[in-house]
Amino acid sequence: MLLFPGKIIMDYSHAAGRVGSRFLAELKKSKRLLAIRCRTCNRVYIPPRLTCKTCFHNMEDWIELDGRGTLLTYTTVYYGEPVLDREAPTTYGIIRLDGADTGLVHFLNEVKQQDLRVGLRLEPVFKNERNGNILDIKYFRPIKSG
Ligand SMILES: [Zn+2]
Repeated sequence: MLLFPGKIIMDYSHAAGRVGSRFLAELKKSKRLLAIRCRTCNRVYIPPRLTCKTCFHNMEDWIELDGRGTLLTYTTVYYGEPVLDREAPTTYGIIRLDGADTGLVHFLNEVKQQDLRVGLRLEPVFKNERNGNILDIKYFRPIKSG
């Protein structure tokens, strides 16, 4: 198989939809993390989505999560990407927020590489000036005890 390397960087707009727009608007306005629950199977999604991917019912039950969660898995990338507003290395994690059944992908920071582990308890750090974007959460960091 022949592979031709290439690169596409372009501006675009993506419609967040009714459910995604409410989630992002609350994040921007008040740093509230809203999830949505399926009345049929009780599965809780964050980011929220309109239709339950387990039982295909539309969802309307919004619940607020406090933002704390548990690290499910993580990886560190040692090269930079022009679309990111941060320099390498960059660590990503999948975090299951307390009360949710799904994982949220986000950056991890304020943690040493040797201290990363599955099960680490995390909390979000928000930007002061928010734009209605998932990156209004700057990153997740370990919850400081005490
Ligand atoms: Zn369901």
